[in-house]
Formats: sequence, C-alpha cells, structure tokens
Amino acid sequence: MTKWVYTFGGGKAEGGAGESDRLGGKGANLAEMCSLGLPVPPGLTIVTDACVWFYAHGKALPPGLKDQVRAGIAGMEAITGRTFGDTRKPLLLSVRSGSRASMPGMLDTVLNLGLNDRSVQALGHDAGDARFAWDSYRRFIQMYGDVVMGLDHEVFEEILEDERARLGHELDTELSAVEWQHVVQLYKDAIEEALGEPFPQDPEVQLWRAIAAVFSSWMNARAITYRHLHDIPAAWGTAVNVQAMVFGNLGNASATGVAFTRNPSTGEKALYGEFLVNAQGEDVVAGIRTPQSITEAARLASGGDRPSMEKLMPEAFASFSAICERLERHYRDMQDVEFTIERGTLWMLQTRSGKRTAKAAMRIAVDMAEEGLITRHEAVARIDPAALDQLLHPTIDPRARRDIIGSGLPASPGAATGEIVFTSEEAVAAEKEGRKIILVRIETSPEDIHGMHAAEGILTTRGGMTSHAAVVARGMGIPCVSGAGNIRVDLRNEQIIAGPIVLNKGDLITIDGSSGQVLKGRIAMLQPELSGDFGRIMQWADAARRMTVRTNAETPQDARAARSFGAEGIGLCRTEHMFFQGARINVMREMILAEDEKGRRAALAKLLPMQRSDFADLFSIMHGLPVTIRLLDPPLHEFLPKTDAEIADVALGLGMEPAALRRRVDALHEFNPMLGHRGCRLAISYPEIAEMQARAIFEAAVDAARETGAPVVPEIMVPLVGLRAELDYVKGVIDAVAREIIDESGIGIEYLVGTMIELPRAALQAHSIAEAADFFSFGTNDLTQTTFGISRDDAARFLQTYIEKGIVSRDPFVELDYDGVGELIRIASERGRRTKNGLKLGICGEHGGDPTSIRFCEEAGLDYVSCSPFRVPIARLAAAQAAIGQGG
Ligand code: PEP
Ligand code: MG
Repeated sequence: MTKWVYTFGGGKAEGGAGESDRLGGKGANLAEMCSLGLPVPPGLTIVTDACVWFYAHGKALPPGLKDQVRAGIAGMEAITGRTFGDTRKPLLLSVRSGSRASMPGMLDTVLNLGLNDRSVQALGHDAGDARFAWDSYRRFIQMYGDVVMGLDHEVFEEILEDERARLGHELDTELSAVEWQHVVQLYKDAIEEALGEPFPQDPEVQLWRAIAAVFSSWMNARAITYRHLHDIPAAWGTAVNVQAMVFGNLGNASATGVAFTRNPSTGEKALYGEFLVNAQGEDVVAGIRTPQSITEAARLASGGDRPSMEKLMPEAFASFSAICERLERHYRDMQDVEFTIERGTLWMLQTRSGKRTAKAAMRIAVDMAEEGLITRHEAVARIDPAALDQLLHPTIDPRARRDIIGSGLPASPGAATGEIVFTSEEAVAAEKEGRKIILVRIETSPEDIHGMHAAEGILTTRGGMTSHAAVVARGMGIPCVSGAGNIRVDLRNEQIIAGPIVLNKGDLITIDGSSGQVLKGRIAMLQPELSGDFGRIMQWADAARRMTVRTNAETPQDARAARSFGAEGIGLCRTEHMFFQGARINVMREMILAEDEKGRRAALAKLLPMQRSDFADLFSIMHGLPVTIRLLDPPLHEFLPKTDAEIADVALGLGMEPAALRRRVDALHEFNPMLGHRGCRLAISYPEIAEMQARAIFEAAVDAARETGAPVVPEIMVPLVGLRAELDYVKGVIDAVAREIIDESGIGIEYLVGTMIELPRAALQAHSIAEAADFFSFGTNDLTQTTFGISRDDAARFLQTYIEKGIVSRDPFVELDYDGVGELIRIASERGRRTKNGLKLGICGEHGGDPTSIRFCEEAGLDYVSCSPFRVPIARLAAAQAAIGQGG
C-alpha cells in the first residue's frame, strides 16, 4: 500500500526536515517543529507523489488516499478534542499547498474548511462569539468559491461592498453577526446562481474538492511562470497540508504574524517581523491592513505609533522569541516563520529558511561563522553567486540633490530610475522596446510577476515588508519601495499624486529601495562598495578555491574594473574589439580592402602603434598578472560597410570610388562567415597581420616591464585552430617576430603561445596539438556552436521554444552542456595533459561566468576560468563553492 499521508501533532511526527522532496518544504518543517516539541496545530501532509499521480491519472485522487486522510484526521480529532463535521465541537481545517521549493502566493489555500450552515452555529457557541463564526464562514465561502468552485473573487468583493453601502458602513466598520449571516446568504445565492450548484454542505465533499483544487493550482498560469523563472521542474508536484485551524481573529488577545529570525534586508541579528491583532494569516501577506512591528526596537526605528507585540503581548512575545532562537540554532540558518496567537496561546504555522537580500545573506553568513554556528566553508557555500548581482547594484550618490516626493518602506535594496507605468502589461511591452521603467501599483499580486520581472524597480502605495511586492522583489533582486502611503495612484488619469506634485505615466522617477525614498526624475548613482562582509566572504572564498579567475577585457576601463573585482589576470583579450573605435576602423578598413600585401603592410604599420599602446596599458594595469592576447579572430567583413549610404561614406573617407568599394566588399562576401575566413585562417592567409600583432605585444611587454618593474610574460593565443599544422604555422610566425625583437633590443623575452580549443576536431586531436601549445583555452561559445551545429547568432529564435517544450532545460550557450560539449572538454584536457603533463587549461567562453558551468570546470580540472569583469566576483564565489563541493 502506497503511503500517501504523513501525520504530525502532539509532539510526534512521521516525517522530518530531511524529507522535503516528498513532504514539500512546509510539511517537512511542520513535522520537524512538531518533533522538537514546539506548539504546532496537529495535521497531515499528503505527499508530492500524490500530486504527480493526480496529473498522471486525469486529475483523480489516488486510491487509498481518502482512507489515509480520514485516519489522519481521526488523530487530529483525538489531539484537539474536536470532530470534523461535528455540529457541537467542529474541527475546522486549513488546506494549504507546500512544494519542495517555496513559491510564495503562487498556489492556492483554503481556510476554515468544515464550516456549513450547522457547524457555524456550533463554532459561534463554542467560541462564545457569533460574529467571529459568521465572519469565518463567509471567509470560507469566499475562498472556497474562488479557489475550488472557480467563481471570481471580485463577485464576493462586490457583494460585500454593496452590502456595506446599503448598511451605511465605513470601510473599517466591523459587521455584526447578523450582518455577516446575511452576507453568507448572499454569497451562497451568488454561487448557486452563477454555477447552478449550491455551496457544498458536506465537509468531506468540501475536503476532497479542496485537495484536488490545491493540486490543480500547481498548473495555474502564475505558478507555471514562477517555476519557469526559478527553474523549478513541473514534474515535482506539490504536497498538501491539512491542518487543524487556529484563529488569530478571536478578539484582541489573538493575532497573526510573520517574522524573520534576523533582518532579511540588512542581516542584522534581531528578530524582525510584523503582526496584526485580531486577524487571520492571509491578511498580513495580502497587505490590506498595515501591520505592526513585533519588537519594540523595530517599532521605534520605523517611528510606528501602534504598539509592538513585545509591548502588547509580552508573554506570547517571550515564548515566540525563545522559539525563534531555538529554530535558528536547530536549522543553523535564519528562519522565516509564521505564527498565530489564539486567545493568548502561541501556535507555530511554518518555518523555512528565510529569503534575504544578497547583502543580508553576506552579513548573516559572516555573523553565523563568527558565532561558531557554521564553518567558513559553509558560510561561503550559502551565498548564491547569482545574487551577488544585487550587491553590484548602484546606490544614490549621497551628494546628489534629492527631489523627494514621498517615501515608503525600504522593501528591496538598490536604487533605480525609470519611466512610470501602471500595469504589468505596459511594463513588459516597455521592456521589449528597451525602455527602463518603474512599475507603480497600489499593491501587486502574483499575477504581476511578469511585469515585476520587466521593471527596474517597483513602487507600491500599500503593503508592508512582507507584502507580495516586497517578498517577490527581494527574491528577484529588484529595488522596491512598498507602502508609500503618502503617494496616491490615480489609475483613471494614469497619474501619481504626492501632495502638490503630479507625475504622469512616462515621467521619470527614481526609487531608493534601501531608504524607502521616492524621488522625482533621474538622480546620480554610485557604484557599489565591495568591502565589509562582502570582502570577508570573498576572502574566505579565495582561500577555499583551487581555480584562478581571470577576466575577458580589452579596454583599460574594463581591465581596471576587473582588477577591482579581484580578477587575477586577463584570460581573453579580443583584439578585434580594439579596432572598432574612432578612427581605427578606417585604418582597419584600409588594411582589409588593400589589394595586395604591400597595401596591407602600409595600413598595418599605422595600426602597430595603436595596438602597442593598448597592450602596454593592459600590461601595466595587470601589473605582472598573466595576460592572454588573442590574435585577430572574426570574419573581416564585420568591419566593412553594408548599405549603399555606408559604402558611399566609407569610400569618401578612403578616397575610393563607391563602385570599386562595393566590388571589393562583394568579393569578401561569405555564405557562412562564422565558419568561414576567420580565426587562425586569417593569419595563415595574411601572416603580416599576425606579425604586426606579435610585434605590438612584445614591444609593449618590454615597455611595460621597464615601466612597472614587474616582468610581463605575454600569453599569445591562436583562435579557431582545428589542425595541428595551423598552430605550427602561426606559432612559426610569432616565434620569428620574437627572435627579431630579441635581436633588435638585446633583451630576452619570455612568452607563451597557446590555442583556443573551440572546434571538436581540436578537442579530439588535443594530444597532437598540445605538442605545439603552451596552454589551451576552451572557447565554449564556438565549441557549443560547432558541437551542436547551432549558429550562435541564430539560436535565440528557436532555443526558447526548445526550453518551453522541455527539449533542453537551459540554453547551452548560457549553461555548459555537460554531456556533449563537456565531454569534448574532458577529452581535450585528458589528451592534452597526456602529451604535456600539467598543460595549463582555462575557459574563456561566456560559460566562464556561469556558476553551474564553473562547477563543471572544477570537476574537469581546469586551472582557471575567465569571464566579463562584472561576473568576476560571481566566478570567484562559484569556483570556491565548486572546490568545497569537491571536498576542497
Ligand atoms: C568562444 O568562442 O568561446 C570565445 C571565447 O571566442 P569568441 O566568443 O570571441 O568567438
Ligand atoms: Mg570563439
């Protein structure tokens, strides 16, 4: 018999934290908390496999499930002294999703299940509060009607609004029991009228349908989008947790809240959270009422005028903070918890490892390592390398004039400027046009996930630090200001109004997600400072890693940035990039268009001093660190004019007839330039180009060594080699130039000549090529292109479809293909090193900055990775994590 159900309650649990694959995160941790003896309402978890079964069998519940659930409920009844479906002491249930990875707000929930026309009376009697009972019943019908029966929640909201208006009630006036009872009747009528079936009275029917609805929500549109954005496989399915209800809305000694055991924005070691008195859990997340601080310190810091939980409910607060400490020690990580206080009694409803900003993650990891809670390796392993991007966000220059128009909560750090848009659709459309926008909403909902992703920043006028906008923006690393109550959004006129200031859609605003300020216009920004906790983690990472991290850079500016990010050399200088700027392109064109060698040499003579000074700059910035310079690689026509107007223009500059230029351009045309006259093929056709480049490199090395006193050992790299003889030929040219310069200057020059491995043939013939090479650098952009036979320039048109159809899980140009391209790298490494023990191996394709690909490089035994400057910190961290994972 398959075990579909795991129970927990009364200090015992069948599962535990290690079983989140089967029980989902929520279920596994409820079980764990229960075993720890913490106050958890009893319940049961239906395993994720049941969801998988459900989808494999036309959305049917698996056989045996109902009996196991019934048995689980009997256990809950024994613990609570209540009975499901009873008309005297009814047990009410919550039915919640819980997948392996947290998907906040994406899946559905039903609360207060088990209420019907009879048990509502019993609930009122039992609680001594009829108003509460009828309010609970109408909440249940509303949720159930929406989630299970599929009636739009607005139908219910409209009924309630009309009823309030009819009664002459303000928005914050509580309805009486009789009034709620009437609303319940209206709700039930609306359901029957719209759907042709009554609201089900049988609690079992309610339960089975609710479980099926939660399973079904796994495939709703927003969950699919969320999974897509977070690489969560659809095949996982969700668990369902059925738990005894506890009520935070049973009067003023009741409350509900969410908290982090440390501050999720800054990482400060202090309990941080929000609660609402006399409210049910979903009210906090929905951001409908503005919540109060949990600790007195946080209340004072935020200037809140309503009392903290610490002041208002000191006993519950004391047990709560003790539990939080205990959970942190037990899990050895910052926790994000949900709780409810029912008439003074504290209940824990959830714990999970808390989402945090990159800045907080750094601080928490460093602090916990220093507190002795985790090791330094664990601290390093806990930082998501991709999240470092957040720390590289700009902040507002403190010297800049700030035109503050309002403020809200600093919900997700970093500053951003963009045009105001009001809908997610507009945000997505604007992003497609390359416009930067700030998405301004009263509040966001899970439906906005697309728009939030497209935005530079998010501004909401309602909701707290744990509102949807705040949580999702922090997860995405997008700056967010939430709950800016002094700004009014006027959707009809597409304006925001802040006192006397009115801004229209399309106007520029800046938000500062670190201070909560909202500012008019564009403001000067500062680039981030990478010291403090960041510096510590990087230090520990550097100590843990085996591979070195270099950068791909051509300009002095990039080289300097990369050094400041900790690059340990240049792994790829693409010399062709140096020929596009300013007047150089004309000299380059002159060289390409020359009819013969003499003409080419004349143009090359003009390029030599430019190249030499570029290289000298790079050598001096790198100050003795290795610098790999690649000979000219791309097809030459990339430098040539294309349209008639461009041709006329260039012809004028070169003193040529446009028709003659057109003929020459046509003569250079290639059907498939990516596989055409490029790479080392250029140096073989026109050795004078390689000669000029080698000369520039050697002369610059001599100059830089003189200037800095640090010896320079240039590494010259030959691109797109497929044949050993190609490398032999080009190396011959380079060696000859070196000999010439040594003769001319009388100074000895040390240098390396290596090759890119970016063609399958080169990988397979690595044992032979290694005889002529001092190093290999894997050009995985071309190697992916040539292994798959997919053009790098055309891949985007169909790879997205491949991903959507599950044919590949990620773009192989982003994440290295372990099985195919990876296999070629393993073969080349192994064969190359068989010929030359200790042959230096690196990677310089885009994969050199991708954490998963970096893990592969560690496993394959590469010596270094090379990536763009801004990814250097990411690569340092990822390389350390890879080494730690390998037992480093
Ligand atoms: C590569 O092919 O991976 C590489 C680094 O070279 P490029 O991208 O310049 O072709
Ligand atoms: Mg290449």
